[in-house]
Amino acid sequence: MEKFPLISGHLALDLVNTQTMSHGKIRDHILNETDLTDWLFASKGYVPFIDDHYLEKIRKESFAVLDDLKNYRSFLRKCFEDAVNGRDVSERLVKCSEQKIDACPLTLRMISQHIHPYPVGGCRESLAALISVDVLKLIEDDQLRFMKCCANPECMLLFIDRTGKRKWCSMKRCGNRMKAARYRNE
Ligand SMILES: [Zn+2]
Repeated sequence: MEKFPLISGHLALDLVNTQTMSHGKIRDHILNETDLTDWLFASKGYVPFIDDHYLEKIRKESFAVLDDLKNYRSFLRKCFEDAVNGRDVSERLVKCSEQKIDACPLTLRMISQHIHPYPVGGCRESLAALISVDVLKLIEDDQLRFMKCCANPECMLLFIDRTGKRKWCSMKRCGNRMKAARYRNE
């Protein structure tokens, strides 16, 4: 099984999905420094700010970064789950995101012909700021209304489903398993 079951290209959502359910227990995929840098490495493709130099800095401060990141993850999960249940969480999220960005202002960089936000603070604050920019983007693009939880009751992964047709986090992880279970019970 892959180390991180769902990488969507949204840093905030991907952070929330670093917790999964296994045999009724929550499994945390970011437990230590290696997990943290592996997760960031997996996100590198869509967050060009995350380069080798940044990963090295994160490694040195991983203890503090992990603590902050887990608190932020709990807050985001609560908000996203509320969004799944039809609540409007944008005000709560905007307020928190703006505070985190204030703590680490962003500049811009041109990378591969695209303009990207580029935080200019310490690595703890800059990671929170990058995630916060993603939260604001999710709100700007009105994506939270399409947030769903996997239909497997044993799974806690969240995803955005604009088509209204997607049931599972992935066919491989839950869809096939649930279909096979239903087939056995028929
Ligand atoms: Zn699932």
